Parts: sequence; C-alpha cells; structure tokens
Amino acid sequence: MVARAPGGPDQIVRAELGALSCAADEVLVQTTAIGVNFIDTYHRSGLYPQPLPIGLGSEAAGVVVDVGSAVTGFVAGDRVAMLPTSPGTYATMIVQPADRLVHIPDAIDDEIAAASLLKGLTAWMLAEPCGKLKAGQTALVHASAGGVGSLVVQWLKAIGVTVIAHAGTAAKAERSRAIGADHALSTPLPDLADEVRRLTDGRGVDVVLDGVGAASWPASLAATARRGLIVTYGNASGPVPPFSPQDLNKAGSLFVTRPKLYDYLDEPGSLAAAAGRLFAMIASGALTVEIGGRYKLEEAAEAHRAMEARQTTGSTILLP
Ligand code: NDP
Repeated sequence: MVARAPGGPDQIVRAELGALSCAADEVLVQTTAIGVNFIDTYHRSGLYPQPLPIGLGSEAAGVVVDVGSAVTGFVAGDRVAMLPTSPGTYATMIVQPADRLVHIPDAIDDEIAAASLLKGLTAWMLAEPCGKLKAGQTALVHASAGGVGSLVVQWLKAIGVTVIAHAGTAAKAERSRAIGADHALSTPLPDLADEVRRLTDGRGVDVVLDGVGAASWPASLAATARRGLIVTYGNASGPVPPFSPQDLNKAGSLFVTRPKLYDYLDEPGSLAAAAGRLFAMIASGALTVEIGGRYKLEEAAEAHRAMEARQTTGSTILLP
C-alpha cells in the first residue's frame, strides 16, 4: 500500500510489487504483521517529503524467504523484525539490507514484535540515551496512552522514574495509570503546567517527553524544572513553531533536544543490542505491549484516519 501523492488517507492505494530479488547483502522477507506509526502519516501527508509513489510503513515482522550471497546470520525460515532504510513496510514482501533486521526471540510473537520494535526502541532512546533519566527523577509524558507513550511510561517505571502521564481524555489517562504512571492527567493543555507544578512542590519535572509538538509546546516549557530537559520528538499536533533561545532562558535555563531514533542506532550492532534489550523487557513482563487496533493491510487508510483522529490507544498493526 502506497500513497499516490502527498495528501489525506484517501491517497493510499494498492500497488503491485513486481518481482523482488536480493542483492548480496539483502534479505527477502514475507511480512506477517506490520506496525502503524504516526510517522507514516507525516510521510503520507508530505510533512516529511518522500519520492512518489510514497512508500509507507517503518516497522514490520515476518519470515525470511531468501538471503543474498553475502548474508550471514539469517537463513530462510527465520522470524525477523525490521526497521527499513526507507518507508515501505505496508507490503506483503519486502527486501532489506540484513543490518536492518533483528531476530525475534521465541518468547515474542510476530504481532508483538511488529507492534513494538520502532515504538519500543523510541521509548528506550527517550528514557535512557537521550533523556538520561535516572531513578528518583520525575518525567512528564505527553500522549501517554499512545504507542510510544504507553511503552515509555512503563520503561520509565522499570528504571525507577516518577511518571506524570498526560493524555487527551480521562479514559486514556486511566489506561496510563493502569500501566503504572504515578499521576495520570487529562487536564486541558493550558492548565497542565500548573497541575504539574502542584504535583512537584512547585519545582516542575526534570524531563518532558513531548511527541505532540505544536499544541503541547507552551505546557512543556512551563512544566520543566530549572535546568531541566525538553525532549521534543514528534509532531502529532503539528511541528513546534520556531522559538528563541531567550525563551529557554526565561523558562529556567532549559535544555531542548529534537532526537531521531536512527541517530541513537548508528553503531554496527546497535540495533540488535537495543532490540535484544527491548525484547527481554517484554519477555520479562516489565513492558506490556497493548495492541489497540488490528486492520487488514488493505485497510491502511482506516488505520491512518483513526490515528489522526486520536482514537487509537497502544499500538496499531496491519495484517497482510
Ligand atoms: P501515538 O499512538 O502516540 O498517536 C499520537 C497521539 O498524539 C494521539 O493518540 C494523541 O493522544 C496525541 N495527539 C495530541 N494532539 C494531537 C493531534 N492534534 N492530532 C493527532 N494526535 C494528537 O503515535 P506513535 O506512538 O506512533 O508516535 C508518537 C510520537 O512519537 C509521534 O509524534 C511520532 O512522530 C513520534 N516518534 C518519534 C520518533 C523519533 O525518532 N523522533 C520515533 C517514533 C515515533 P492524546 O489524545 O492522548 O493526546
């Protein structure tokens, strides 16, 4: 499934793949489950421009069908999950360089792998190498019932962080409380910083994890403790508008970073190592991956509509 041109979900159509074959370092995979991510909507809409027709999909699980002559470590029949080099996992078959694949352990089923590889590794990045959160610190997590949000809430709890979760409705906030958030709010965004200050004795939080973007930016600035960090990692409500360094000065000498996962997976072997950590956390029960929606691959447009209407919770997957 591809988008014919930048635009709404109605641009998503079925396309024939043609014959696929592997170059020496590549692997051919038949997909079994495909993760839907908010970034797919940025590719489709043109917010993140792509060549036409626009390939969609940034994670999937499946079974290896064939491997190139130089591939070691994967053989036909292996269960794998992938982060592709460019969008295009809304497909029944896909060719990828072997270094974009990881083995799925026996304890993890394909749907869970497809629902968690990109979102779970993003949660890891936000909590650990990027957010550098430590036990005893406090974090505010926006869109806490979403795909990344629900995983990062649990990751933070697993490492001893106090979590203030924020979601768009009381029912979604309740889901965050159920998976361990210390405080779960659905306060309107203009009032959120005051509520966060009340919960932190006026101090604010050490780190804000903000994938909502434009709509939550003022609340994020106002809720962060002096010398704290805002990790602005997504644009679900639109990109953060341009701001002045002076805004960071006035808000308390704040730090801001705008990370992307791939900059934290840039060493050889780093994808396999981080995925191993993620899958071990899932297998141990420290992380529960909620699959809130399952659609047929042909229904990708419906999945996009639900996600953009804020109707999804947890992860959404497509089934080929
Ligand atoms: P989610 O499941 O979190 O869906 C997005 C959520 O954003 C919605 O459910 C909604 O939650 C919230 N939201 C707030 N305002 C709006 C709005 N105006 N329109 C739509 N949604 C809104 O998606 P994902 O888990 O796939 O992704 C979460 C974020 O993480 C995205 O911004 C994505 O781009 C980012 N991301 C960044 C990565 C990186 O490397 N930087 C990697 C992967 C993801 P609520 O109603 O509760 O507010």
